[in-house]
Amino acid sequence: MSWQAGWKSGPLTKESRTMNRLSPALERFAPSPTLAMTQRVGELRRAGVDVIGLSAGEPDFPTQPHVIDAAFRAMQAGETRYTDVDGTPALKQAVADKFRRDNNLTYALSEISIGAGGKQVLFNALVATLKPGEDVLIPAPYWVSYPDIVRYADGVPVILPTSSGQGYRITPEQLANAISPRTRWLILNNPGNPSGAGYDAAQLRALGEVLLAHPQVMVLSDDMYEHIWFRAEPYATMAEVMPALKDRTLTLNGVSKAHAMTGWRIGFAGGPEWLIRAMAKLQSQSSGNPCSIAQAAAVAALNGPQDHLAEHNVKFRDRRDLIVAMLNDTPGLSCPKPDGAFYAFADASGLMGATKPDGGVIADDWALCDYLLGRARVAAVAGSAFGHADAFRISYAVSRDVLREAARRIQDAVADLVF
Ligand code: PLP
Repeated sequence: MSWQAGWKSGPLTKESRTMNRLSPALERFAPSPTLAMTQRVGELRRAGVDVIGLSAGEPDFPTQPHVIDAAFRAMQAGETRYTDVDGTPALKQAVADKFRRDNNLTYALSEISIGAGGKQVLFNALVATLKPGEDVLIPAPYWVSYPDIVRYADGVPVILPTSSGQGYRITPEQLANAISPRTRWLILNNPGNPSGAGYDAAQLRALGEVLLAHPQVMVLSDDMYEHIWFRAEPYATMAEVMPALKDRTLTLNGVSKAHAMTGWRIGFAGGPEWLIRAMAKLQSQSSGNPCSIAQAAAVAALNGPQDHLAEHNVKFRDRRDLIVAMLNDTPGLSCPKPDGAFYAFADASGLMGATKPDGGVIADDWALCDYLLGRARVAAVAGSAFGHADAFRISYAVSRDVLREAARRIQDAVADLVF
């Protein structure tokens, strides 16, 4: 079975289903297709194939040395025990200071939650609040985990499609038309994975105005890529630009992407106290506290020098410009310029139906990514995995040289297609 077939048909084998050993909640979702592709890259490399992996969503920079020192010191000082279940007071204070510094948002420590990565915080929020059958509005293309976590929580993902022509941003009209009495959350990822599309303050305000009339709807503002932001307008987040919505907004962030700390597993959020308490209750009976040492490291990351954020930003912007130009120079591909994050989302509808050198046909974006993997030895992720067909995502968190080589290989493979 190919890796996409495994993803499309869900995680469970026929055998395990008939044995009826697994929970219905597990049946409702699939394993992450981006992780599946990254695993596939690992297998090919182990088999000696020279593959350029552009599927993983993590910065290629190392964690800052002062952060590593802080972790070491924490271990030596005996910070190796359980902590408060949803984070140490020191980390909550550092997060509160970060929200004040970067986002003009004031949160009390009781309004802050720390989890093992942004993913756990998001999971906690949705599982703690969704009642069966409630809707969660998710603009597409979306981060792969949103619909699956909603399904796990017995909610209903309601997908709001966007096009490259609309900059992969939802419009206020689209939002207004999608809201029903069943709507519980809107997930807004700014800037977005996989498209890199960003909303500035005015665009957020226009969406926020729509929400004012619907008090049942909460906003999950996923700001994980906040610091990888290329637009001239300053970065903004919903609770900041719409104070009237602050008490029904969860502002989610973390150190994974900004501070190149994906492996440390620290994410955080600010939101209303009732929600933060519910999330802590869930965490208390699942993972317990996030790693005490990683929490100490995150304090150092948030309180220490922030110069690397701007340095990373310059590098990412430079890579964005390179890959977007090369993709747009490839016949059949078109790639709008991302506003932030480190992904390029290329529209490949011009390649659908083309014939491969072996006589096979590029029937869809899965087939295209298979072809790119086999022929160009470049791993990209099919747009369908993100709810947007006939496209693919490239992560440009690799060096300029690697990126240029990957784009050249893609161009050569596309040149071998017959239309
Ligand atoms: N939100 C978005 C949009 C992401 O892309 C990711 C990770 O890929 C996360 C949240 C979760 O990040 P973490 O690694 O902190 O769990």
